[in-house]
Amino acid sequence: MTAAPDPVGADRRAALAAGLAAVRARIADACAAAGRDPSGVTMIAVTKTYPAGDAVALAGLGVTDLGENRDQEAAPKAAEVAAAGAAVRWHFIGQLQRNKARSVVRYADVVHSVDSVRLARALGTAAESGRDRPLTTLVQVSLDGDPARGGALPGAADPERGLGPVAEALAGAEALRLAGLMAVAPLGWEPERAFARLAEVAAEFRVGYPTATVLSAGMSGDLEAAIGYGATHVRVGSALLGMRSTLR
Ligand SMILES: *Cc1c(COP(=O)(O)O)cnc(C)c1O
Repeated sequence: MTAAPDPVGADRRAALAAGLAAVRARIADACAAAGRDPSGVTMIAVTKTYPAGDAVALAGLGVTDLGENRDQEAAPKAAEVAAAGAAVRWHFIGQLQRNKARSVVRYADVVHSVDSVRLARALGTAAESGRDRPLTTLVQVSLDGDPARGGALPGAADPERGLGPVAEALAGAEALRLAGLMAVAPLGWEPERAFARLAEVAAEFRVGYPTATVLSAGMSGDLEAAIGYGATHVRVGSALLGMRSTLR
């Protein structure tokens, strides 16, 4: 007996509800194991490659935060979800080209993937004219220092890609809010090793930015390890929505 049109059908809704219950249970167990309050962990449902109807259905099941990694897909999907009347926060989690900044600031509430001073400046400029409240931003950090895979470099003096300069550029922009750090475990690393390293980087980072307490880490395969090392936001796609046919 709901007034909203059915976005997906009963079978898909049941599958999404089951995935959601399973992921919520995993998060609760990981929090219990780590002695953490589950209210300190926000689950972001990563809807990339899946249709807007799935996003609307997830919102109907109580999901408040959705993630996407490509502007071409995210912009129309966010518009469709808004048109369906679902109020959600959108997290942009993918590598972002500067020429997409103008588009992303219109629908994103949080950008997780800032990893260069140039991108920070582009977002700052775009946010000034493209939205009426500050854009929340995270610095994506590289845990293995591989420049090909994205991420700012902790401890590096690099004026363009060093974590320090990127954070400063975000903190200094009027229309941006620097909220914390994001990372992806490097390929071939044990999650524990990756997130232990991230926790070290975050502890040092918070000396300079004590209010920037967000730690976005952990995906379908490694969210338990991330929560064990302090993740405040986990980004979960396939465990909720099913395996994607493409490698992103
Ligand atoms: C796709 C993606 C996720 C979700 O990955 P799953 O393994 O499907 O949970 C998380 N973070 C980023 C940056 C992604 O691109």
